[in-house]
Amino acid sequence: SSENSNRLKIAIQKSGRLSEKSLALLKECGIQITTSPNALRAEASNFPLEILFLRDDDIPEYVQDGVADVGIIGENVMLEKGKKLELIDKLGFAKCRLSLAVPRGTTYDDVSFFDGKRIATSYPKILGEYFKEKNVNAEIHMISGSVEIAPSIGLSEGVCDIVSSGSTLLSNGLKEVETVLKSEAVLVANPDFNGEKRKNFEKLLFRMQSVRRSNKNKYILLNAPKSKLDAIIAVLPGLKSPTIMPLANEDWVSVHTVINEDDFWEKIDALQEAGAEGILVIPIEKMIV
Ligand code: ATP
Ligand code: MG
Repeated sequence: SSENSNRLKIAIQKSGRLSEKSLALLKECGIQITTSPNALRAEASNFPLEILFLRDDDIPEYVQDGVADVGIIGENVMLEKGKKLELIDKLGFAKCRLSLAVPRGTTYDDVSFFDGKRIATSYPKILGEYFKEKNVNAEIHMISGSVEIAPSIGLSEGVCDIVSSGSTLLSNGLKEVETVLKSEAVLVANPDFNGEKRKNFEKLLFRMQSVRRSNKNKYILLNAPKSKLDAIIAVLPGLKSPTIMPLANEDWVSVHTVINEDDFWEKIDALQEAGAEGILVIPIEKMIV
């Protein structure tokens, strides 16, 4: 039916580091889904959306082929698979990096160390491009799992693998020496779908971006002596200009605005220095711009 063909299909990871946050993002967008533990698909009850649960490695191909219209994957997987996909947005979770590492005792000066060396990785494409750009001639060995044990079993002199805290490398006697790629979860789409389905996607995207913005921003209220108001406003970026409200004490006003999490503490310090008092910071549930 036409209702069926208008239904957007999103592919997310079935079980792994992306799963929980991908589902949480859909929920924060107001999408109601009933999931059963082993189901490979689910339907939203209040949005024309079908969710496909897949291995993350398979998502790029399925989205390229139109089996799913959009998908959530790590940038690392998107780049490694090299499929024809449209990068719609970065999603701010599953942050990690793809790094080169060598045994801890190794003397390492720079990336030319890898010339003529064997490197084990599950990311031969990304690593190949990186070495090419750095003019390094290394032997890349593709391994699909447990890459970090390769040096200890004599398979390679180095590895290139996903790192977040570095503890896996450490416990395998390796040290991180180069960052090849910084990655986070991304929303990708088939470049060719359109019509009603596209419209539904735009609607979902609008919601996702509102959720993202609200997670990144905080609502801030503070009291300012009128004499220092200009200095305080100068510190605040805000969406537009801040809201200024009178207080019972006529020498003071209340200032309301939205600030970004990235430089949050610097802003708080600067506000206090400028004379702000009674600073309140409140989470924002949704941010419609
Ligand atoms: P699948 O069974 O679906 O193939 P997988 O084992 O390949 O799963 P996960 O380990 O669940 O994949 O990781 C999925 C994605 O999460 C990675 O491609 C990467 O983008 C990101 N990721 C991996 N490790 C970390 C980490 N330690 N911290 C944060 N994000 C990570
Ligand atoms: Mg995988």
